Amino acid sequence: MKHMTKRKPGRLFFANPGPTNIPDSVLRAMNQATVDFMADDFLDVYDAAIAGLKRLLFTAGEVFIYTASGHGAWEATLQNLFCSGDRILMPDCGYFSRTWGAMAKNLDLAVEMPETDWRRGPDIAAIADRLAADKSHAIKAVCIVHNETSTGVSLPLPEIRAAIDAANHPALFLVDSISSFGSLEFRMADWGIDAVVGGSQKGLMLPAGLAFTAVGEKALQAHGRATLPRFYFDWTKMRARRHRSFTGTVPIAPFYGMREAVRLIEAEGIEQVWRRHHRLAEATRRAVSVWSGNEGVAFFCADPKRRSDSVTAVKMPDGHDAEAVRAIAYDRFNVSLGSGLDPLGGKVFRIGHMGDLNEPMLLGTLGVVEMSLRLADIPHASGGVDSAIDYLATA
Ligand SMILES: *Cc1c(COP(=O)(O)O)cnc(C)c1O
Repeated sequence: MKHMTKRKPGRLFFANPGPTNIPDSVLRAMNQATVDFMADDFLDVYDAAIAGLKRLLFTAGEVFIYTASGHGAWEATLQNLFCSGDRILMPDCGYFSRTWGAMAKNLDLAVEMPETDWRRGPDIAAIADRLAADKSHAIKAVCIVHNETSTGVSLPLPEIRAAIDAANHPALFLVDSISSFGSLEFRMADWGIDAVVGGSQKGLMLPAGLAFTAVGEKALQAHGRATLPRFYFDWTKMRARRHRSFTGTVPIAPFYGMREAVRLIEAEGIEQVWRRHHRLAEATRRAVSVWSGNEGVAFFCADPKRRSDSVTAVKMPDGHDAEAVRAIAYDRFNVSLGSGLDPLGGKVFRIGHMGDLNEPMLLGTLGVVEMSLRLADIPHASGGVDSAIDYLATA
């Protein structure tokens, strides 16, 4: 007989740092019977969704959308911008930058991945020095994960742009904003970002399955010279189509959802969305600060200025398994926390605070984290939730 999962009453609190909670109105918007993706009715929805996406990215560039998760957009972006053997600089800051680098190597790029302290992220002066030393301009791009979802470290993109400019280096500035877009301040044009990779299932509050690259003029020129093999993800082919994206069938439902998600974000105001994330992140940090007493759990991100507003990675004391906390939170209390990824497996759990989230949802999650720490006998100091309440009630 098939094992029956015990019913868990109430709502699943989804506190993973992606995918994220999908607002009810977005779910309803996606409940859409098949329509012709070349019909005007759909094209209106599509155009509105894309125009909204560009407004939220603060770009007037082109957007290429793929039926894929973020990994597909990574691959598409590399294939469309580079030639075999091209050199790129991609600091190794965590699971995601490391994986993107491995993908680039597999696509036959010469990938420079300076090691960094994953608890701090790269030293921007070191990036500037490396670019200044590259007199022949062999480095074609600086690739940065804005918000390392595996470590909870976010990087100051304007400072990295300034480092590229200070070295007077023509490298493209390529950014993964998959877990920052729609949560952290992000301004593609003002920050001189040439191409940005994003996904649907994090700050954009949609299911996984759509990913995109927004591309500025300089990156489009690089595309004109790029010779890596590609087919399904070929921007040139996409640009010839009415949607200026896709090679095959256009998935329609996600665009009804995207138009609605953009409407929700703009009704709140994108800058208010960023402030809300900061506030909820700060409440989370207040709780973790308290829990870190008694030589207990700690922030994985050791640099307070770089602690992410969309995810907090909580480091376990030596000899304790983060999976024990996650299991109690999920099995007993119906709260889904993020696991540690690859080398951080068992060493951290992650609290996602991105997307469609408010104070009671966050406090519910923090309350369950504190209970789970207690039940799993993990060293910590109690009172983290009180501290989060104090902050939220007064800030
Ligand atoms: C989630 C994420 C990805 C991968 O996206 P998938 O949609 O899971 O393929 C890449 N980069 C970052 C920073 C992410 O948070």
